[in-house]
Amino acid sequence: MGKSTSDLSRRGLLYAVAGVAGANVLGAAAWGGLELMVKGETVWHKSVCRFCGTGCGLQVAMSGGKITDVRGDELAHNKGVICVKGSMVRALPYVEGRLLTPKIRRGGQLVEASWDEAMGLVAETFKRTIAESGRDAVAFYGSGQLYTEESYTANKLFKAGIGTNNVDGNPRLCMASAANGYNSVFGKDEPPGSYEDIDHATLFFLIGANPFECHPPIFERIRRRRADNPDVRIVCVDPRRTLTAERSDLHLAPVPGTDLLLLNSMAQVICEEGLVDTAFVDKHVRFSDGQNTVDLEAFRTFLDARYRPEAVEQELGISAHQIRDVAFSFARAKATMSLWTMGINQRTQGTFLNNMLNGLHLLTGHIGRPGATPFSLTGQPNACGGVRDTGALSHQLPNGRLVANDKHRAEMEEIWKLPPGTISPKPGYDAVSLFRAMEDDRVKACLVMCTNPAQSLPSLDRYRAGMEKCFLVVAEAFADSETAKLADVLLPAALWIEKEGVMGQGERRYQLVEKLIDPPGQARSDLQILVDLAGRLGHGAVITAHTPEEVWDEWRNISARSVYNFKGMTRARLRKERGLQWPCPDESHPGTVRRYVEGDDPLVTKGAGIEFYGNKDDKRAVVYLRPYVPSPEMPTSEYPMQLTTGRVLEQWHTGTMTQPIAELRTAAGDAAIEINEQDAWRHKILEGDIVELRSRYGTMQGKARLTRSPRPGVVFAAFYDAKLLINRVVTDNVDPISKEPEYKVTAVALRKVNS
Ligand code: SF4
Repeated sequence: MGKSTSDLSRRGLLYAVAGVAGANVLGAAAWGGLELMVKGETVWHKSVCRFCGTGCGLQVAMSGGKITDVRGDELAHNKGVICVKGSMVRALPYVEGRLLTPKIRRGGQLVEASWDEAMGLVAETFKRTIAESGRDAVAFYGSGQLYTEESYTANKLFKAGIGTNNVDGNPRLCMASAANGYNSVFGKDEPPGSYEDIDHATLFFLIGANPFECHPPIFERIRRRRADNPDVRIVCVDPRRTLTAERSDLHLAPVPGTDLLLLNSMAQVICEEGLVDTAFVDKHVRFSDGQNTVDLEAFRTFLDARYRPEAVEQELGISAHQIRDVAFSFARAKATMSLWTMGINQRTQGTFLNNMLNGLHLLTGHIGRPGATPFSLTGQPNACGGVRDTGALSHQLPNGRLVANDKHRAEMEEIWKLPPGTISPKPGYDAVSLFRAMEDDRVKACLVMCTNPAQSLPSLDRYRAGMEKCFLVVAEAFADSETAKLADVLLPAALWIEKEGVMGQGERRYQLVEKLIDPPGQARSDLQILVDLAGRLGHGAVITAHTPEEVWDEWRNISARSVYNFKGMTRARLRKERGLQWPCPDESHPGTVRRYVEGDDPLVTKGAGIEFYGNKDDKRAVVYLRPYVPSPEMPTSEYPMQLTTGRVLEQWHTGTMTQPIAELRTAAGDAAIEINEQDAWRHKILEGDIVELRSRYGTMQGKARLTRSPRPGVVFAAFYDAKLLINRVVTDNVDPISKEPEYKVTAVALRKVNS
């Protein structure tokens, strides 16, 4: 990245995204450990970007004990490509505003305290709360940004030590529907394919995703694939004409909340036009109405009755002709790769949408071949490895086991050497339920780590009030995050290369981040905090692994008892290699690019070819009949428009780490309410006017930005800016299966405030 990003405009930064980081990887081929290259005083180290689920490999230059540069790692899966956030991650450890000492709330103010005082108060309050109100009165709320060793330890401490399943976290807000989708279709979580499939696909079906801004190296890989192969086509389904949509061959803009109509209608066309891969379906697929197994004919009848293109086009906002076009393209392509993320997951029908996306691939046989795969992109860097795989959610136990399953609890009690009956059979509170439980004192004390729910939760006014009632312990790197402001005890946390740990990104790839610098002030790793807390709560015998390496070895050995097997990923291998993809059962295994495929996935039975072994009984994947139900947030006369929210290129989630970086703050500017020019004209709104958004959940004001991006009737706002807490008006309706909130669809009324 020879050019400084400090003086680039936002537009300039957008074009810089595709820039391949410095090609100087001298000595890389012979590299065998932490130090990548020594040149003068500078030592380059292998590392991983701190921000998103793309999980880009980086090289970090160190000189005199400080980071002097960062560039993409050409030997990593991202082939040297990083985005502007990754290029600026070098500034992260040095920005102002870091929390340097523990603090305790006294007389309404947060005042400095020693670690012993702060942790003593936390332990004493947790113990007293458990004694007075029971184990389920305490909780842990974690993050897809903790290292795997940290999420694993927190999960074990609360479920095996304290004895409550009140362990949840922000992955519930972004990935729970994708996880439920994979689990219900394939019997096991996590994507079957890999980023490598991009290099083979001939049709990209992007739905509810904006990878140009949110996963830039992935979109750059797609763009290169098309540039080298003119027959490759990109279809983008999004109610906004995003920067991804602008670069696609076909943009379809559905009415927010209706796209299960599109997927079902595509399935109807595929069945009616004889585009089903019957050989594949006969061998590998089972149909289900959610209760019982049915046959293909019942599936066709279900689709014909409601989802013919002409029957859905008006409600969906996409013409019957375009539905047929995209259905044919999807089925007839040599290799179709679907990519989706929050636009599909953050929906009251998020699990059903995931089911149908996977179902379209199964119907057409677009799975298990290079380039043919259904791929749920992930938002956070370690939501997959750290939370989904470790089972650090309120209904789960490690490696796909479930709290409510007697056999699964007994297995984990045996593995963790616990007396039978130790793990509670009662699932804990999912994210939204947890913060509701704070409102009426069912949860009285909560440890929040590495996340900022006071900005990221929906219906914020409600849940911030709940957080104020609860004894809130917040481990955080930055002193002024919205959640830190509500803390009763604030614990300074190390971040990124100030500590060591493994992250598992969106394609089942685990990568090691090594410690390169000390944390500032008295900050400690989240693992150190958890180990300390375990000892003070009397659970030292449960939490016996104290270093990242010890925890990883414990966890690695446990994985061997499941199909999430990564026993072969020793610390030594992770230090050397650019990550490994599971299954990886032994130290000689290279990792698995494509799951369920013989010759690649070591868990497939010899001679089976393709085998969906996650569904143990028949080893078939399931196509579901999933009826469309309109979102509760469809427009009404009182709330005639719809709000959708999301991210921008230069900012990461709630902005706690990216807003303090001047270049990123300047490039993104302040968040605004983006309004279609037609709607603005109707409401007499001009650029920069103050406008009000009112929903059933709250009211807020912000500056108008006029654009042609959202379709008429839709407004958009990003959630990175604490000055525009857009989640105050966002619905807290959840998918009844995944319990993931519907951030993408809120009915609102818009009005101009000033003139
Ligand atoms: Fe890669 Fe995401 Fe980091 Fe950008 S923010 S460099 S896409 S991991």
